[in-house]
Amino acid sequence: MAGNVTVKGWCPGALRPMLSGDGLVVRVRPRFAALSRNQVLALCDAASRFGTGVIDLTNRANLQIRGVTEAAWPELIEALGEAGLVDDDAETEERRNLLVAPDWIDGDDTHRITGLLLNRLNALPSLPAKVGFAIDAGPAPLLSYESADFRIERNESGQLLVRADGRDKGALVATPEAAVDALIALAHWFVDSGGLDAGRMRRHDADLPEWAAPRISPAQAARVPALGIHRAGTLYGLIFGQVDAGNLRAAVEQTNAKGMRVTPWRRLILEGGIPGLPCSGLVLDNSAPELNADACAGAPGCEQATVATRELARQLSGAVEGHLHVSGCSKGCARRLASDICVTGREGRYDVIFKGRADGEPDITGLTASQLLEYFGVK
Ligand code: SF4
Repeated sequence: MAGNVTVKGWCPGALRPMLSGDGLVVRVRPRFAALSRNQVLALCDAASRFGTGVIDLTNRANLQIRGVTEAAWPELIEALGEAGLVDDDAETEERRNLLVAPDWIDGDDTHRITGLLLNRLNALPSLPAKVGFAIDAGPAPLLSYESADFRIERNESGQLLVRADGRDKGALVATPEAAVDALIALAHWFVDSGGLDAGRMRRHDADLPEWAAPRISPAQAARVPALGIHRAGTLYGLIFGQVDAGNLRAAVEQTNAKGMRVTPWRRLILEGGIPGLPCSGLVLDNSAPELNADACAGAPGCEQATVATRELARQLSGAVEGHLHVSGCSKGCARRLASDICVTGREGRYDVIFKGRADGEPDITGLTASQLLEYFGVK
């Protein structure tokens, strides 16, 4: 791995926030990947009142308020709690590490399995904080490339299956109830078979139990849906996964949205209301170059960063071919997959990795921001 980073090994929540360069990071995990209209408005108010006024949508489809002071945190939690956006305790919040395919409809299998699992969180063993579940039971998997350790998907024939991450096949499960039983049993098997040492399922190479043996392929993964009219409402893009809380509030009011769905693709769905309405700070143009770029908070927001990221990514995004990732350090929080061009900060300068991840071996090292811009022909 290039450079030195501190891997904290846990994910912040609302009840267990993380201290970063610009204050506390408070992360809300929406249940069912959905918020009601009132919850969205309460979140916007909370971000404006207690944070920087910007809301981050993370690549695990969580919503994050940054820049919260320790003094303000209790009041923020009270406001979020009144809106039904926090759990009863930090342990429940940590266990509720679920990625839910955002296009579910009431009563379908994604919705049912998520509800059943939420009711049985106490049956899960204690797992590493980053270990999570993807409930992805639509006709074709939507979350195959997103971070999760245990997945519910469907095969080409429409049968439900449970799949351990890192295995390209899964095992059939007959019903939503059986799917939840299988997820819980796999989590226990992971712990009992030494998975805690590996940390994540894809790094755990023990043989799966016979009942979960990988025999059935999931259906071919679906593409990330395009921006614009969506069956649940309108899908909007967020540049670098950020939205100004005032803009989000205005968008909810202008479109008369009845709620919001969150996705792990830096996109959100405003449910119902006026479809396809352009809204300030939300992107509808599928060709916007910034949508093909990822950038983490960088300096000064993240204490591990020695370089700024997002303004540079904005400048570079229209000038480079393919996917761009600008990472404040080699941890690569904004994207775990390889990018065509990955720029990684190290000791106040930038390294460039072609076709790699933020922790890859750099092809070019030690550029200043202006040298980097010049290299890619940005005037
Ligand atoms: S990748 Fe970015 S956000 Fe993550 S630790 Fe490094 S600088 Fe911070």
